[in-house]
Amino acid sequence: MHRLLLPLLALICAPALAVAQPAAAAAPAVADAATQARAELAGLAPEAIGVREIDAAPLAVGVWPGQPYQGALLVVDVAAPAPIVSASGTFAGAKLTWHRLDARTWRGMGPVPNGTPAGPAALALDVSTKGGAKIARSVDLEVQPLDFATDELTVDAKFTQLSKAARAQIARDRKLVAAMWKKGSRPSPLIRGNFVLPRQDRTTAPYGTRRTYNGQLKSVHEGWDIGGVVGDEIRSPNAGVVTLVSNLYYSGGTVFVDHGGGLYTAYFHMSSFAVKPGDRVKPGQLLGSVGKSGRVTGPHLHWAAKIGGHYIHPASLLLFDFTRPMVKPPAEGPEVVPARATR
Ligand SMILES: [Zn+2]
Repeated sequence: MHRLLLPLLALICAPALAVAQPAAAAAPAVADAATQARAELAGLAPEAIGVREIDAAPLAVGVWPGQPYQGALLVVDVAAPAPIVSASGTFAGAKLTWHRLDARTWRGMGPVPNGTPAGPAALALDVSTKGGAKIARSVDLEVQPLDFATDELTVDAKFTQLSKAARAQIARDRKLVAAMWKKGSRPSPLIRGNFVLPRQDRTTAPYGTRRTYNGQLKSVHEGWDIGGVVGDEIRSPNAGVVTLVSNLYYSGGTVFVDHGGGLYTAYFHMSSFAVKPGDRVKPGQLLGSVGKSGRVTGPHLHWAAKIGGHYIHPASLLLFDFTRPMVKPPAEGPEVVPARATR
């Protein structure tokens, strides 16, 4: 009896499974992450998004993007002929945050603020190596302009004519976010592999748009809007630690993830959360779902990335190869070769 029942049950269940699988596979085809990121940065020369080695002997220095653009993540790898004990630097006045890749190779990451004027800007580097050598170098890099669009949006009047209660909530929200920035990022990156999209869908609003809300309020759109319907999954694009999970007035359901090394990503307008503050997340781990909370005109994911106090273009993260250093250390200098005479 039971021997007959089991295959029968399997037969009954099989069609249900067969239906579930093609439904998941039939999701609309969207461009892969790198293609979509390049489309966001269309208008830039190919060398602008490649690695560039700059002449800074005795250091080997790799810069990405080769021609920094407004709103980019800037990555600088410095390799020295002797072990590095400290490194610091700035680009266009914005500070880079440094970590060690190996004894002789360190990496600095920072923003190219979206308001940086196009044209030359100085990359200043200070590197100290074991044995007391101090190497300072400054080189001009040409900042490329991004073509920022302008947009006029109509949102609920409660976002442009703030009530007393709204003002009080906004003040609370600011304190909460300021406390998170004060705690700071983990110095050592938690990044594993390369960044991917938190969800694959069409772009509904690009980064950097100069916006007018209800014909009056002007602001810059400092995120990348990716389409979706309420309930669609949002997944962490890399490893990190969740630093904030809260419902805020403007950004609605909000999650911040610290990827270490000064780099954060943020997810706005969510309808539900799958994480809590302090959670360590793996690449691809569910953070929550798409919503239409806060100042929006419809459901979508506002994906943002922040480093050094500036919101940069998240598309920038998708194009850098985090898995290897950009430069190899130069040959070891004579100062690190033990000078012992043989008798
Ligand atoms: Zn947005």
